[in-house]
Amino acid sequence: MRNVLLVKYGEIATRGKNRYLVENRLIHTIIDRLEPYEGYRVYKEQGRLLVVNELHEFDYELVIPLVTVMPGVTAVCPCVETEDQSIENLRNIALEHCKEHFGDGPVTYKCETKRSNKKYPLTSREVSADIGGYILHNMENVSVDVHDPNFTVMIELRNNAYIYTKLIEGCGGLPMGTSGKATLLMSGGIDSPVAGYLTARRGVEIEAVYFDSPPYTSERAKQKVIDLAKRLAVYTGGIRLNIVPFTETQLYIYESVPPEKMTIFLKRAMLKAADKIAGENGSQALVTGDSIGQVASQTMHAINAIDSAAENFVVMRPLCAMDKQEIVDIARKIDTFEISTRPYEDCCTIFVAKHPETKPKKSLIEKMEKKMEKLDEYIETAVKNRQITDL
Ligand code: ATP
Ligand code: MG
Repeated sequence: MRNVLLVKYGEIATRGKNRYLVENRLIHTIIDRLEPYEGYRVYKEQGRLLVVNELHEFDYELVIPLVTVMPGVTAVCPCVETEDQSIENLRNIALEHCKEHFGDGPVTYKCETKRSNKKYPLTSREVSADIGGYILHNMENVSVDVHDPNFTVMIELRNNAYIYTKLIEGCGGLPMGTSGKATLLMSGGIDSPVAGYLTARRGVEIEAVYFDSPPYTSERAKQKVIDLAKRLAVYTGGIRLNIVPFTETQLYIYESVPPEKMTIFLKRAMLKAADKIAGENGSQALVTGDSIGQVASQTMHAINAIDSAAENFVVMRPLCAMDKQEIVDIARKIDTFEISTRPYEDCCTIFVAKHPETKPKKSLIEKMEKKMEKLDEYIETAVKNRQITDL
């Protein structure tokens, strides 16, 4: 008998023969993450994964936070594993487990049994009734409620038996690296880290790009982005951040276009640069934190006029249909909100127009851009001079 962690994952079941590849990917992600800690091993157990420690007692406080943040994990359950599936042994283990987890107050519970070991002498129903009755007779302050219990005592009979009462929700989605790669345009704001998280959650590896314009943007603004990238790395298991020096490009655009069009051209230049970086790093898409109508450069007209700047890759905007509050809720959940709302002072706001255009015409923008002869050169130099950090 020992304490182990049962890991549940979703969606993979629907993926036919790719299933084992995806399962193995998740297994390796967990193994990598637990590598610094002694004794942890991961096994497949009929549509579940099992994390065990073969050297010493399982440290749930350490392992649960590391595993629940992994894309692909729908839930984890701290549970007791036993080889001895005799009903007497199961009764005792279930009782001890309930005593440990139910707490003091009056508690309602039900027992549920899953039996993939079809040779077992009792039916699932009989096992649940037996163990449920045993708990009732041997604990105080407990009663059975089959409809809406405080606790469901799960008994799973497989090659070994597993008993647990607690289910902790995981990140959901698909295991990292099973859906290709994307380049995320990440500013220090609330939105783009959320866009990155949602994309990573679908199993997409993320590489981040930040456009830095010192002295117009401050060192502290850059530090925010670094801290945000580190935070995203908790979910992705690591992230590469490209910091692109964009001052010259930005000044060139500033000199070349009327102020109300500045943002549109700047956003296009960012997409062009990110498109080049994506081509070098093996991405299949760009990702931004745009949300329809949130600011002037995010109206449908503006998005349409900006989008064509990315020549090679599709631009994904996972937040496009979300309200700000919904985005903020996710930012709080993934602990990026505090970092994103950290105060910082940029030295100058010359690039921000008083009345930015909200209905730019794509054809006109593209025509104007063609006349900016040095733009591509500036962008190329900026991309070449980028600073790359693995976080
Ligand atoms: P965010 O909250 O992500 O900063 P925002 O609502 O402030 O977004 P904008 O500043 O208009 O909106 O930016 C829209 C998107 O463009 C961002 O979500 C991000 O993907 C990208 N972006 C903007 N500025 C930068 C930058 N300096 N570096 C990298 N990407 C940027
Ligand atoms: Mg922003």
